[in-house]
Amino acid sequence: MRTEILCVGTEILLGNIVNTNAAYLARQCAELGLTSYYQTVVGDNEERLMEALKIAAQRSELILLSGGLGPTEDDLTKEVCAKFAGKKLVMHDGSKERIAAYFSARGLKPTDNNWKQAMIPMDSVVFENNNGTAPGLAMTAGEVKMILLPGPPNELIPMFEESVKPYLQKLSNDVILSQMVKLCGVSESAVETQIKDLIDGNTNPTLATYAKTGEVHVRVTAKAESQKEAQKLVKPVVKELKRRFEKDIYTTEADVTLEKAVVDLLIANNMSITCAESCTGGLLSARLISVPGVSEVYKAGFITYSNKAKRKLLGVKKGTLQKYGAVSEQTAYEMVKGLLDETKTDVGIAITGLAGPGGATPEKPIGLVYIACNIKGTIVVHECHFKGNREKIQESSTSYAMMLARQCLLEYISKVTFGKKE
Ligand code: ATP
Repeated sequence: MRTEILCVGTEILLGNIVNTNAAYLARQCAELGLTSYYQTVVGDNEERLMEALKIAAQRSELILLSGGLGPTEDDLTKEVCAKFAGKKLVMHDGSKERIAAYFSARGLKPTDNNWKQAMIPMDSVVFENNNGTAPGLAMTAGEVKMILLPGPPNELIPMFEESVKPYLQKLSNDVILSQMVKLCGVSESAVETQIKDLIDGNTNPTLATYAKTGEVHVRVTAKAESQKEAQKLVKPVVKELKRRFEKDIYTTEADVTLEKAVVDLLIANNMSITCAESCTGGLLSARLISVPGVSEVYKAGFITYSNKAKRKLLGVKKGTLQKYGAVSEQTAYEMVKGLLDETKTDVGIAITGLAGPGGATPEKPIGLVYIACNIKGTIVVHECHFKGNREKIQESSTSYAMMLARQCLLEYISKVTFGKKE
């Protein structure tokens, strides 16, 4: 189904808010197998919204709209859509009751304009809003379907997940099945080159790559008459990806992040971890600690930004800092060594680098970062050259550190298991 996204809101046009709804809806379209060719943003203006609808209806079969369902005068998406479709607005009793209940549960009184939100274009399908007052709607204008969603993402996303997705899935006889394959430690271009034959040679399932900082995700999507059929199509391609990339794949689950994969690996092997960070200022620890259940394995994090802190807390030698500098292989080595000596944990990760924008020298450019991993005394230090601004270099460093920790852990585990077998 040819689909397009139409976001309504002057705030988006002015750049006051980022259009995250469009990004979310576009991802959903890809997952549902809806071909999405256009995205439009219009302000809260009747004439221009009407014009945008007319254009969209000429080239698409489904229009996903977000925003402008609120109770105020400038919220006019529903009214304009009704006018466009030639449908009258009628009171929807279910929505009226929900709005009354929403306010009474909060000890508030609805104002007159709140009832405007219970008015719906004739013959619409209503999607309940469990996080706000504006119901979502599905309606038709001739051959074209329109889905109207509230602007706040905390209302739009759950409504889409709970009601709109199943509604759209029912419109088609086909089942769309997507499987995510997530890789780390390889570049997007390397992945694309290695799977070019699979991308070019497959139309069902299709393969698409997405680059994330320090990661590449490959989505395998199949369309079939049943879930089972779709699974049959997806399975061999995922198997082939596993064969080609083996240990670079850290998960095939859509909701597993790299940090979760590292934490799960530590938990499964009963190993504890500590971090020592300089230029990333605790970001690595924060990413690890964002994983529920991490307390089983995460013990401590040191932000050793100054040379003095590196010496006092991690035992980095004064001579090392003087001779090689804080951003050096030797300092990273001593940081991660001192980290395990100090904490008596199993795994240590240390990061020291130049995130910029100042401080570069011809020998040490911005983006030079040393990342070290220590597993029970076995230390590796990698020299990295990241691109981008301070934030991007910090993010790349934390992703790389987790990739390195994972790699070292897998190596360590395979040796231990091998040793046991012998
Ligand atoms: P409300 O009932 O809150 O008025 P609404 O459906 O009328 O909701 P808008 O008034 O257009 O939606 O937007 C309300 C808020 O939702 C905005 O201030 C913004 O925070 C968020 N929002 C709206 N559109 C988007 C978008 N496209 N991307 C991200 N956030 C958005």
